[in-house]
Amino acid sequence: MAETARAAVLVAPGRMELQEIPLPPIGRDDALMRVEACGICGTDLEQYNGEYRPRFPAIPGHEPLGVIEEIGADARRRWRVDVGDRVAVYPRFGCGHCEHCAREDFRYCSQVGIYGFSVTDRSPGLWGGYADYLYLSPGSKVRKIRRDLPAVVAAQFNALGAGFSWAVNTPEMRPGDDVVILGCGQRGLASLLAAREAGARRVIVTGLARDSFKLKLATELGADVTIDVEADDPVTIVKDVTQGVGARVIVDTTPRAPEAVVQAVEMAAQGGTVVLAGLKGRREVPGLFSDLVVTKELTVKGVLGVDYTSLEQAVTLIEADKYPLSRINTHSFDVSEATRALQTLAGEIPGEKAIHIAIVPWARR
Ligand SMILES: [Zn+2]
Ligand SMILES: [Zn+2]
Repeated sequence: MAETARAAVLVAPGRMELQEIPLPPIGRDDALMRVEACGICGTDLEQYNGEYRPRFPAIPGHEPLGVIEEIGADARRRWRVDVGDRVAVYPRFGCGHCEHCAREDFRYCSQVGIYGFSVTDRSPGLWGGYADYLYLSPGSKVRKIRRDLPAVVAAQFNALGAGFSWAVNTPEMRPGDDVVILGCGQRGLASLLAAREAGARRVIVTGLARDSFKLKLATELGADVTIDVEADDPVTIVKDVTQGVGARVIVDTTPRAPEAVVQAVEMAAQGGTVVLAGLKGRREVPGLFSDLVVTKELTVKGVLGVDYTSLEQAVTLIEADKYPLSRINTHSFDVSEATRALQTLAGEIPGEKAIHIAIVPWARR
């Protein structure tokens, strides 16, 4: 086995460096994972630009999937995985020894960390998925996942987990509900699949004119109606489709689009739930008519990231191999191409149409 791992290290906002980091010795209660694929999402872009959790130097990559290369006896027993198993890694981890970690409630652990965001100065440094290997701390949560699926499909567990959290679990979606997903990026499409799986009656997905390829894919994945919001008014169409009632669940996944919040409130049915997931770049929402929240008795909930239960639902869906998830993965890049991967996700590379992008450290070696 190698003695070092290549890692893409974010040393300052907008500055990525390829570094060699020594592989750590593994004890009784931790493990080393060979990274097969690491999904990247909008949060990675915000981190790269220094807008979200700007701590440096850090190896980005909070959606890592890989194979256990080495594991201690205690970790093997606790996580019920062994060398050679493929696992999906939950982003948050604790020390593994305190009372909070015993209850798997990492939030209050004094050593809490997040893969992809913990700085490399913290030993042993390999805390992110943009690397050949990831160190698994004693307080990690991992979920075994079928090894015979393509890594770029299995690596969608985090995006799909967000779909279950945002479209189903958070709004307490029930079979027969009409669901509107604002935005058709990887998390919008994931929300569509989760709503479909949970028995939504009709799922409506919106996008911009330049998103036409994503809206087409949304239809193939089971959307009943898709709306180009630059050509048509989404509120009018949702009202038409639902015979004037509006939708019971609306999930706003759109980044930097404050008007989507206004539309969500307007298209919600009486007693409906609006889930806000897309950050608006610290901008306010002009034109929000809050009386509608009162008169329609709406519930408005904010969500950030994914809980473990939703992640498990995502893994179950991936293992069922029921949807063409490989179609959602549009690009893969080596660790050494991390900057280009982020630029591609940001839409800065002319001609490239991205949905889900993964870093795949071993594909060309
Ligand atoms: Zn993410
Ligand atoms: Zn702890």
